[in-house]
Parts: sequence; structure tokens; C-alpha cells
Amino acid sequence: MNLDRLLAPRTKNIKSSAIRELLKVGTQPGMISFGGGLPAPESFPVEIIPELTEKVLEKYGPKAFQYDRTEGFIPLREALSEYCRKRGIPADSEHVFITSGSQGFLDSIGKIFIGKGDRIAVEAPTYLGALQAFNAYEPEYIQMNTDDDGVLVSSVESVLKKHDIKFIYLIPNFQNPSGRTIPLERRRAIAEIIEAHDALLIEDDPYGELRYRGEHVPPIKSFAPDHVVYSSTFSKIFAPGLRVGFFIAPEAISKWLILAKQGVDLHSSTISQALAAEFLQGGFLDRQLEKIVRLYKPRLEAMLGALANDFSDGFKWSQPDGGMFLWFEGPEGIDMEKVYFKAVENGVAYVPGKFFFTDPGDGIETIRLNFTNIDEGTIERGIRILAKVMRHEIRT
Ligand code: PMP
Repeated sequence: MNLDRLLAPRTKNIKSSAIRELLKVGTQPGMISFGGGLPAPESFPVEIIPELTEKVLEKYGPKAFQYDRTEGFIPLREALSEYCRKRGIPADSEHVFITSGSQGFLDSIGKIFIGKGDRIAVEAPTYLGALQAFNAYEPEYIQMNTDDDGVLVSSVESVLKKHDIKFIYLIPNFQNPSGRTIPLERRRAIAEIIEAHDALLIEDDPYGELRYRGEHVPPIKSFAPDHVVYSSTFSKIFAPGLRVGFFIAPEAISKWLILAKQGVDLHSSTISQALAAEFLQGGFLDRQLEKIVRLYKPRLEAMLGALANDFSDGFKWSQPDGGMFLWFEGPEGIDMEKVYFKAVENGVAYVPGKFFFTDPGDGIETIRLNFTNIDEGTIERGIRILAKVMRHEIRT
């Protein structure tokens, strides 16, 4: 069959990402992988699932397995309303909507806003999965410049002045891939600019709860509620397999997002939503967050310590206060995709950073390191190997 003739032209934009092919090489047994973006499986609260399930069956019976409304399972929306209020986003339960993970949300955003050639502004670097979701709708990307504190206010402003932008996409907390967090004053300034330009911001926040040091910073949504769509997920605070996320948006936008979702999956898994509701209502979240911090904080510290030990001049890296990733930059000219194959030969994998940029040629000398999925000793061993491989690369 000639599939080329059948596929819609836009489908070809959803390329199987080169990165997937590349990372396959890095998944052989015995490999020390800083490459994936997975939470540690030992962090999942499997021990509470029987109790949660029992409660769900007791409270909702077969209803937990029935079709439900697209907007989401009401007890979960109620629990999330309280959760969001505590985190600086006052929202009634009717204004909280459930999605199939944040990824499902990002696809709906693409679907309702992006037409072929429309411009959207993203951080350099940004989350690959968002690009993949948006690509299907054929946008043009405008990159915004960043520093150690995330996107530059001046870059947000100049992008909005120069271009007709459909929306700005930001991950303000412990960004994937860079691990950077936008500080309070910068958030306020961004909110002001967005309001002044009557622009729309998509604030993607899967990692905000994974803080290992410092103070919680309020979401940008709290400073410009009418111009921000805020989204988060249970993937990092409970388990990604649930596929439950949520968003809070200006009312007119929510309406469209719900219609878009309805056409895709009618609603997100009812049983998953009921478990998530019990998880929040039963007070399990705080204990789970403590467990996650206890597990991930030493891993981040081990990675920072090992980097400081094993790398010297010419190399630099981000200092995340939470999340799952750290951003690493080599001296100008070093091609981290080339080095990747040497690292893999020596038993260590990572993600070359260039894949997180939308402008070709950017980020050649960067890499993303995940620190949540391996223990401290292995992290130290892996960084030592990486340092050796890179030192050799620079000399040759
Ligand atoms: N946004 C960002 C920034 C992410 O890193 C991820 C997952 N790694 C997602 C969205 C999607 O998360 P999920 O669909 O599991 O909620």
C-alpha cells in the first residue's frame, strides 16, 4: 500500500523523533542511563493502592468504572480546587478540568490554537514532548533566550513586540530539560508583559512539588489569571501510569479545551481519577512528597558533588533546587551528539541537548542529565566515566 498517498501532509510533521532512535543505543543492559526522564519506580506509593482501591469501591462502586463527564470526576475536581487554592491559584471545582496527563492537555492546546504557520514562543531549550504535541498542528517556533534563571524577561517582551504570537509556552519550575526555575520577580515581570500585550501563556508545571531546597515560588497564573492557562499532573507526585493531569484556564478557553478533549477520549480514566481523588482527600500527598524528596534529594546532591569533583574549566552545569534534570554544557565546539556514542561505548547514556531546541544548530555542546532513576553510587560512577570520555574528546 502506498501510505504516502494516504497520510495527511501534516501527519509527516509528527516524525518519530531522532532522539528515540538515538536513545535506543543507550538502553542496553548494564548501561548507566542519565538519559530517561522517568520517576524512580520505588517512589510509587504501591503500598497504599489496596487501601485507596477499597475506599474507591466503598464510596463509588461501579461508578468508578462508568463513563463520566469530559470535564472530570467531580470528587477529584473538588479535591484539586482545594489543592490549587493552597498553591496560589484560587479556583472553584467547576474551573478545574481533568486531562489524560499533561501531555493530553498539550495536544488539546495545539489543537485549539495552532493553525499551519502560526507562531508560538518557546524557551530555548524546551520540553521535547510539547514540541511533538504541537508539531502535528504545523506551527512556526520562535525561541526565547534564557539564562540560569530561565527565560529572559527582555526576550519575552521582544518576541511579543516583534511577532504575532498565538501563545507562549513556559515550564517555570525545575524546567525539563534545564532544571532551572524562574524566580519570583521575573514571574511578576513576565505576568505584567503578558497582560500588557494581551498575550496568552501556557504554564506547564509538572515538577513544582519536587522541591529539595529553597522556597516555593507562586505560579505565574497567580499574577495574571486571565492570561494564563495553568497545567499540572499526578505523574510526578503519584504515578505516571495513572495518566491523570489537570488544568485551570480562563473560562472561554476551558470550553474549547473540553470540546477538543471530548473528540479524543470522551474523558480520562474514571478509576484513575477516583484513585487520585482518594490520594488527595485521604491526606496521602504530604507523605508521598516526603518520600520523593528523601529519595531524589541525595541523588541530586550526589550528581552535583560528582560534577564538581570530576569536571573543571570549560564545563558548567545548572544548580537545580528540585525536579528531575540537570543541564550540562561543555566548551564551545564540543559536539555532544558525537560524544554520546563514545559515552555509550563506555557504558553511560544521556540526552544530547540539541534536541530540545527549535532552531537548528543550537545546543550542540549541551546535554540533559536525569538524576532520579539511579542510586547515588551509580550516579558518581557514571559521572566519573563521562568526565573521562569528555576529557579524551577535548584532547583529540
Ligand atoms: N510537561 C513536561 C514539562 C514534562 O516534562 C512532562 C513529562 N515528562 C509532561 C508535560 C507530560 O507529563 P504527563 O503527561 O505524564 O502528565
